[in-house]
Amino acid sequence: MSVFSHSDFAGHEQVVFCHDRHSGLRAIIAIHNTKLGPALGGCRMYAYPSEADALTDVLRLSEGMSYKSALAGLPLGGGKSVIIGDPKTAKTPELLQAFGRALEQLGGRYITAEDSGTSVADMATIASQTRHVVGHMSEHGSHGDPSPSTAYGTFVGLRYAVQRHLQRDSLQGVKVAIQGLGNVGMRLARLLHEAGAELWVTDVDSTRLQQAHQTFGAKLVDLQQIHACPVDVFAPCALGGAINPHTLEQLQAKVIAGAANNQLAQAELGQTLHQRGILYAPDYVINAGGIIDVCYQHQGHYDAGKVRTHVEQIEHTLKHIFDLSEQQQRPTNLVADELAKAKVLG
Ligand code: NAD
Repeated sequence: MSVFSHSDFAGHEQVVFCHDRHSGLRAIIAIHNTKLGPALGGCRMYAYPSEADALTDVLRLSEGMSYKSALAGLPLGGGKSVIIGDPKTAKTPELLQAFGRALEQLGGRYITAEDSGTSVADMATIASQTRHVVGHMSEHGSHGDPSPSTAYGTFVGLRYAVQRHLQRDSLQGVKVAIQGLGNVGMRLARLLHEAGAELWVTDVDSTRLQQAHQTFGAKLVDLQQIHACPVDVFAPCALGGAINPHTLEQLQAKVIAGAANNQLAQAELGQTLHQRGILYAPDYVINAGGIIDVCYQHQGHYDAGKVRTHVEQIEHTLKHIFDLSEQQQRPTNLVADELAKAKVLG
């Protein structure tokens, strides 16, 4: 496994490999860029098939965090961490505490938060060893969990993309396929249902599927078919790579607007989407609600009204990107990357 010559390493300031023999911790912390502030990004726990897969994931995610915070107008840099292991079987308080001690040694250059496979309760355990963690307490009026803000931002961005691309002023009757009904996807489903949208959903967890069916009247779809549903919007809200050459071929939606990170398996697919007249809301722009929320938590003066107003700015950021994409006849993901790189690296 190469690190310095890894195709996703370029631009990273620091990559730290953490190991604790006693608890079995194996983690990687990637700090992409700290020009705008300390690197803040979630901690993902996942049973990666290999260490190389974990490294690729953390490098891609940390770079994305730099761009996400920059375009969300936050005084933060980009970083991310991954703990290698199945969260259902390998997660112990000792392992999380060891991870917390590793964070403390970085002196605040990287601040962690919850992500897939970790929870608000896990952040509290990590916080027993370090100050450099957010998303774990209710002081300052914060609930800790960034997912509601992520879901709300995704909803705001999806609604704007539909208005812009499909000329629909309301979500009433708009058909949306949601891939993944987790912390974000289920909340997004609720917001869409309340706005009158019709839902198609899938998840590996049958309990969540039943909940969405009973609560929102959602149609249940096979895991392998969710991208091919006859809908207006495809909302990837599970893991990355939802848009790949195979799924793209079968996609019927005219708008892609979801919360998952790294939705495009390859950046070049943005060009194909553009050519096919499918409007793609860049993932790290539309899912910035969570980082906005944890930024206010980190600053220590959490105000739910201010957070909501800041999250609603996602619509304006998307408008700017969609305007430039139209004017320049270039894919939205490339336009977003250029805007973000100018802020982070320029
Ligand atoms: P989560 O782990 O709570 O939910 C993911 C859901 O996807 C689970 O219900 C899981 O069962 C389901 N799933 C897993 N594999 C699937 C598959 N192949 N097909 C369909 N469903 C599948 O995670 P989350 O917090 O809801 O985050 C979802 C996505 O949004 C992730 O990519 C995450 O990185 C991204 N994101 C989350 C936040 C946040 O605030 N939680 C912020 C920004 C981005």
